[in-house]
Amino acid sequence: MSASDESLPKAPHAIEDFLRAYTEEGRLRGFRCPNCGLVTATWGLACARCGHRGLEETELSPRGRVSAFTILHVPGDEFLNDAPYAYVVVDLDGGGRITGWMPEVRAPSEIKIGERVRFQPGYKPGVQFVRDADAPRSG
Ligand SMILES: [Zn+2]
Repeated sequence: MSASDESLPKAPHAIEDFLRAYTEEGRLRGFRCPNCGLVTATWGLACARCGHRGLEETELSPRGRVSAFTILHVPGDEFLNDAPYAYVVVDLDGGGRITGWMPEVRAPSEIKIGERVRFQPGYKPGVQFVRDADAPRSG
């Protein structure tokens, strides 16, 4: 072990565990700050709002609403057969904002801001969402 290893802050959680949770466990792991209550899907060592360092792990809701999206026509290698598809930002029910992708959404007219979606674990990297057919229709 080198001296630089010892100078790194100790994390009770590893980013690899979070990525593994997406693909192998079919769940979204996140953090809740016991000091200010912020719920976040972003891995980190300290609260992004108040700086508290004792973040507690929590399981995030697999359901949420699309808060932003774009259609990707030029994907990375792992998604060559899926393009075009939507790259989405989702506000999860109960807190946490996470980025993911939606296969078979090929044009802006096929998706709406505020649309209900749910996490669909799959073999591809990243967080895959699909339309939430069980969600109550709005408007
Ligand atoms: Zn906080």
